[in-house]
Amino acid sequence: MPATKCLAEVIEVKRLTHDVKEIAFKLIQPDHLNFKAGQYIAIEVTEMKDGRPRQNNRPYSIVSPPEEREVIRLCVNLVNSGPGSSYLHKLKVGEQVSFLQPFGYFVLKTEVPAPILFVATGTGIAPILSMIVHLIHINRQQEILLYWGLRSERDLYYQDLLAALAEKDPLFRFETTLSQPSAAWQGARGRVTEKIAKAFEAGENQEAYLCGSLAMIREVRTMLMEKGLPKSAIHFEKFF
Ligand SMILES: Cc1cc2nc3c(=O)[nH]c(=O)nc-3n(C[C@H](O)[C@H](O)[C@H](O)COP(=O)(O)OP(=O)(O)OC[C@H]3O[C@@H](n4cnc5c(N)ncnc54)[C@H](O)[C@@H]3O)c2cc1C
Repeated sequence: MPATKCLAEVIEVKRLTHDVKEIAFKLIQPDHLNFKAGQYIAIEVTEMKDGRPRQNNRPYSIVSPPEEREVIRLCVNLVNSGPGSSYLHKLKVGEQVSFLQPFGYFVLKTEVPAPILFVATGTGIAPILSMIVHLIHINRQQEILLYWGLRSERDLYYQDLLAALAEKDPLFRFETTLSQPSAAWQGARGRVTEKIAKAFEAGENQEAYLCGSLAMIREVRTMLMEKGLPKSAIHFEKFF
């Protein structure tokens, strides 16, 4: 079956950092979306190939939870003047965007409330935040631990939101760790892999969801298997 084409209007653009924006889209056609936390949409983008413009699609994970069906949000990192991220970063309120329906298998797998480890680097937080907000919304009573790796203080965002979620649900904990912080930084330092190597112990029926660069996913996956997680309990989405 061909993928459903959707149309939406930009209703809000938030600059989160020097190179990350959150963009909110109000659905026009259809007027709402049914999706699972962790899925992505494929945005139609024009890119130049051999000197000619060509239509292409770029995947972007939905950062908002599936409970919000009429407005969806993306969180996009501007990359090397790439066509997809540049297009999204230039969008203004009132402009319309075409994309293909939500896709993807990076979604919550277990029905039973087992402990979950989430690991994100950069905008890999997008599908993971959607899952965390969803899990807290449905009040599943399970331990949720998030390690999020960013580079330095100027790359921080969503910290207040995560702190508010941790306040609301005592079973949710998070640590944002900076790989290149300034000397003044009081929070966690180092890469997510170092945190997991030192601090993480797998619980019974532990599940893990990883999203970000391939290098991080490979390293964390190996580490988690060494800590006793079966391959089938480690789910991941590679952004690049
Ligand atoms: C399933 C899926 C979901 C995704 N969801 C998101 C999302 O929610 N937010 C988001 O910002 N990106 C996301 N991406 C990445 C996104 O699809 C594009 O690859 C990215 O925006 C670069 O596209 P571009 O056209 O701007 O540049 P391109 O010319 O296509 O890529 C330029 C270079 O940037 C590298 N790159 C791609 N993404 C990143 C990144 N995030 N950080 C650093 N380098 C990168 C690529 O490997 C490439 O070498 C997702 C990718 C996948 C596969």
